[in-house]
Amino acid sequence: MRFSRLRLSGFKSFVDPTELVIQDGLTGVVGPNGCGKSNLLEALRWVMGENRPTAMRGGGMEDVIFAGAASRPARNFAEVTLTIDNAERLAPAGFNDADQLEIVRRITRDAGSAYKANGKETRARDVAMLFADASTGSQSPALVRQGQISELINAKPKARRRVLEDAAGIGGLYQRRHEAELK
Ligand code: ATP
Ligand code: MG
Repeated sequence: MRFSRLRLSGFKSFVDPTELVIQDGLTGVVGPNGCGKSNLLEALRWVMGENRPTAMRGGGMEDVIFAGAASRPARNFAEVTLTIDNAERLAPAGFNDADQLEIVRRITRDAGSAYKANGKETRARDVAMLFADASTGSQSPALVRQGQISELINAKPKARRRVLEDAAGIGGLYQRRHEAELK
């Protein structure tokens, strides 16, 4: 699966709708301190299902909503849309009905967050599973946070194994086994 576009609206410092086209090959994001580079990566993590406020440098999940600035009032919702090129039809069943797969996550103050896949409401766990199977999930080692390398070096063996499993794309299997055992 290849990411082809990221759209943000009301997400952190990206109060106005912003669209990034992700071309083939390497993409670099450059800009002065505080311009929103890390916020972009957090948007990517968030639309793939990240639910830990700390991973988004916040105290609660609603902290991803634009909080207002001197000249602009706060927003009531934040929305991130990730477009995935699915021309090769590699997306799993349930997500594989078009050449493009568009995942939308929206959070509204006091009303929590909801997902859509190609316009249809989708459960958070199905979105998480989609990305876990593709080894790109919100916690996948494909996204390397500041400080994460030293965390990995100092991690206990079990935590380190988890990282290797996510890299191998088998995180979703554990999730399914866990759910099967609960049934
Ligand atoms: P650096 O080069 O220092 O790493 P950066 O380009 O990664 O900077 P970010 O950390 O992505 O910058 O952006 C930080 C900016 O985002 C700050 O100005 C902060 O006030 C703003 N910001 C974060 N959350 C919100 C929010 N909920 N509402 C409005 N602005 C926000
Ligand atoms: Mg940064």
